[in-house]
Amino acid sequence: MRDPREASLIAVERRRARASVKHALQTGDREPLTVARTAWDNAESAEYGLRMTEFLGSIPGIGVVKIPRILDSLGISPRKRLGALGPHQTNRLTAWLNDRRLLTSASVHRGRLVVLAGPTAVGKGTVVARIRQHNPDVRFSVSATTRTPRPGESNGEHYFFVSNAEFDRLVGTDQMLEWAVVHGQNRYGTPRGPIVDALNAGDSIILEIDIQGARQVKKAMPEAILVFLMPPSWDELVRRLESRATENAEEQARRLETAKVEFAARSEFDVIIVNDDVDSAAEAVVQLLKDHYAEGES
Ligand code: 5GP
Repeated sequence: MRDPREASLIAVERRRARASVKHALQTGDREPLTVARTAWDNAESAEYGLRMTEFLGSIPGIGVVKIPRILDSLGISPRKRLGALGPHQTNRLTAWLNDRRLLTSASVHRGRLVVLAGPTAVGKGTVVARIRQHNPDVRFSVSATTRTPRPGESNGEHYFFVSNAEFDRLVGTDQMLEWAVVHGQNRYGTPRGPIVDALNAGDSIILEIDIQGARQVKKAMPEAILVFLMPPSWDELVRRLESRATENAEEQARRLETAKVEFAARSEFDVIIVNDDVDSAAEAVVQLLKDHYAEGES
């Protein structure tokens, strides 16, 4: 048995060592990923014994409100110690810290990742076209899809039109930031490379994707700004979809079903923009790219 006085001295020493790791994280002297790797490499280290809540709470920009959300998205219990994570948890935390590092360093140069989503036929395409017209310097992500091109659409400009096998390969090699089956039919996804390049260069980039994809981006990069483009009313949405006439009746019905579910998800978004006037909606999105996005403690 260890002398109780000695044991308590060791406990004090360990706490002090953990406090010094937390301090180094808070001041930015140490990268979160370096701290995590030390914990995983050495079970005797102070890093190993850090609780996940202490670890995350010491990273600049992460406050008490965010911690449970982050832990939940990573499937990690708040009581877990950093060094004692399972292999899948370790992989998820590593990927999350890597994505976050990228985004945080990008925000120094004020590059923003803006995700534009909203129900079908709300006019996302029109708003995007208007932004392009007036702001040729704004970058847009070009998605990959298994859908066949419509007349007038060209590969590499509107989409990268790929086969099912190629889509599988992109997903399997971790080249997709997010992907989803949209309208129960085709797969659509955001290639990771151009997003990484834009943010590394300090540039903002807009993703025009569906709501399932928007959720995935928010998980991977919580600083992404999720914008929900809303029609002035539900009736107006139905009218726009019917007047568009690019889909047959069956396809329109399917898209309206998706739109109902999407409509209900608007509260998950950071910003809601009502598209009653294309110019104002486009301007509101562009403003988000420019504004300093204050990172609160929530
Ligand atoms: P469309 O077939 O009309 O071009 O697009 C159908 C839907 O797919 C749109 O709602 C659009 O937002 C969504 N979409 C386009 N690209 C992506 C993507 O990369 N990821 C996800 N998740 N959805 C996308």
